[in-house]
Amino acid sequence: MFRYIDIHTHALESPSDGISVLNHYDHFEQAASDQRYCSLGIHPWYINEAEPEAQLVSLGRYAALPQVLAIGECGLDKVTETPFSLQERAFEAQLQLAQQLQKPLIIHCVRAFEELIRMVHSAAITVPVIVHGFNKNRHLAKQLLDQGFFLSFGKALLKEGLLQEIFAVLPVDRFFLETDNSGLDIAAIYKAAAEIRKIQADEIILQLQLNFKNVFGK
Ligand SMILES: [Zn+2]
Repeated sequence: MFRYIDIHTHALESPSDGISVLNHYDHFEQAASDQRYCSLGIHPWYINEAEPEAQLVSLGRYAALPQVLAIGECGLDKVTETPFSLQERAFEAQLQLAQQLQKPLIIHCVRAFEELIRMVHSAAITVPVIVHGFNKNRHLAKQLLDQGFFLSFGKALLKEGLLQEIFAVLPVDRFFLETDNSGLDIAAIYKAAAEIRKIQADEIILQLQLNFKNVFGK
């Protein structure tokens, strides 16, 4: 049985003692030639403004593959150049796709959490929604948890501060860990997570295996 689970990474290599969910934000056909777990999604930074429909068609073509565990990262970003209305359209389509395929969503969200909650709500999404790279305040964490969302934490956990305080008291069944593009070993993030929550390393390993099974069915 693997120990560590990295639910969102851009690192091509899997951890030696674990599994990872590799993220593809373009060239979705890559998923077809690789049996490893991955997530596919149109990132708000990388929407093809000339041909957004073709990009969605390509996503839809590969997203149903069994090794594709989630749709995303997708979402909304108020700090990028991509027109917001185009982001909303791409996100809406991906919400529908995730719901149709019954796969969880991995969310990228920057300064657009109200819009995120509104869109997820009005699309009547029942699949799990995971906000990745969470690094915000207590109020927002509570707001997202109240919506039933999951939060995923990465390298920001290694820095002492408010985020650690939030993480320390988070419900055990509502979080994941990830390396994203940090280049860190997922084991280092697990170590920090166990220390912050003042629990044994094995306890967090078992809990995250359980969370992974509940959300991703694996
Ligand atoms: Zn990422």
